[in-house]
Amino acid sequence: MKPELLERAEQLKIRNAKKQLNAFGRLLVDGRECTLWDLDTAVLPRAARKWRKRARRFAREEIRPLAAQADLDPHGYDPAPLLTAASKKGFQTLLLVRPFGSAGITTFLKSTTIQLAVVAEEFATECGGLGLLLLGHNLGIAPLLLAGHVGTYLRHFLPIYLKATWLGKSTVLSFAITEPAAGSDVESCDGAVQAKVTVTARPEKGGYVLNGTKVFITDGAVADKIVVYACLEGEKIDSWTCFLVDTSMSGVIVGRHERKMGQRASDASEIILEDVFVPRRNIIGKLRSGWANNHNVLNFSRPVVAAMALGHGRGAFERALKFCRDTTLAGKRLVDYPDVQYELADMAISLWAARSMVWRCCASFRANQALSSTAKVFASDTAVRVCNQAMELMGDAGYLHRFGVERAWRDSRLTQIYEGTNQINRYDVIEHQWDYDFSKDCSEKGL
Ligand SMILES: Cc1cc2nc3c(=O)[nH]c(=O)nc-3n(C[C@H](O)[C@H](O)[C@H](O)COP(=O)(O)OP(=O)(O)OC[C@H]3O[C@@H](n4cnc5c(N)ncnc54)[C@H](O)[C@@H]3O)c2cc1C
Repeated sequence: MKPELLERAEQLKIRNAKKQLNAFGRLLVDGRECTLWDLDTAVLPRAARKWRKRARRFAREEIRPLAAQADLDPHGYDPAPLLTAASKKGFQTLLLVRPFGSAGITTFLKSTTIQLAVVAEEFATECGGLGLLLLGHNLGIAPLLLAGHVGTYLRHFLPIYLKATWLGKSTVLSFAITEPAAGSDVESCDGAVQAKVTVTARPEKGGYVLNGTKVFITDGAVADKIVVYACLEGEKIDSWTCFLVDTSMSGVIVGRHERKMGQRASDASEIILEDVFVPRRNIIGKLRSGWANNHNVLNFSRPVVAAMALGHGRGAFERALKFCRDTTLAGKRLVDYPDVQYELADMAISLWAARSMVWRCCASFRANQALSSTAKVFASDTAVRVCNQAMELMGDAGYLHRFGVERAWRDSRLTQIYEGTNQINRYDVIEHQWDYDFSKDCSEKGL
């Protein structure tokens, strides 16, 4: 465009054209000049806004320098310094309010997971694997919180949190529901009634003896404690009970470490339990409350997984955007080509839609199954698509490890699988809404 036309177009932009409006008209125009990131941050409640800023700084300073190498060689780095640094900054204790944890109380009472979700997005933007290493711990902590049981709080939850909050010493917890023949089946009710769960708990004086194998346990090899869901001997999944197993207990064996396609810097291991005696005081909540607890944990955790997916997509988008700003083709920057602009706009819009859904889902004290699964499915599908678009924009550079986009693509793929595949999460939406929106009764009632 000619310079004089460019200047006129600039004058027509709303931030300049609004000068023609009267004072009240100007008041109604949002003419802020800021990045997409700042625009989003501004709508968050105060505490979440603060955590978003802190998490971005931490992710850039502590996660970014490790990311590429940790992805290439997951067993070649020591996760302890990163876990300690995150703990000292309060990132490992966001499921409880100050002074016991680090979440802001007013925001937490309105929205239990929003502070964690914004942190998850920032960590995942830099690296899915290191992000999961730090965030997986919350999945292990959630059963203690959601047990709603005073004994569990006093004996287990608070001590772990106080140690981390006041001394900066992190205790890594893992969450173990998946078994070799029961993955999806322990994540939705229809499957659960026929689930082939084989980890059992046999009563013995003073406690229970656990036997069996759990698989794909995130952070399993680095965990200090694992929350294990087991059937009482001779019973089915209805008897599932939650046990807090210390990894130093006799009979806890870390089996195969999985070699993964994405989120490689975090561990996923088989955990074998051979006659592990667990004292009665390590039962989380009540006997037989494991299924309800598991269901509740997943409903709380899926929006956080959705936020992680969002981070993978955003990481790919930001790297592609930088590439398009820095790369020239036929004398023009890539970002100046209209079709590249459309593609980038489409990516930004998709991420925005997913973020709105995730934040809407988090904006409640209680978790809602239909909303949680919806956010998880939409954000993870969006992330994979956006990563794909980023790779297409970048051509061969998108395919190279050092640009980090193929890593985001591999990382995002996992968010469609864990915490229930997206197929199972779709079922969960229907299951939750069946009586109100899908059953024969509702049409007869004219709903
Ligand atoms: C890297 C990684 C980390 C993980 N971390 C943990 C962890 O920390 N703790 C933990 O307990 N678990 C963990 N998991 C397990 C994860 O949640 C399960 O892998 C997941 O739920 C899928 O179960 P599955 O692999 O057994 O698949 P399957 O259940 O065998 O499913 C295979 C396919 O069948 C489809 N399918 C299954 N049932 C139905 C149905 N009824 N209708 C239609 N389609 C169906 C699925 O969608 C899928 O496409 C992890 C998994 C991975 C890969």
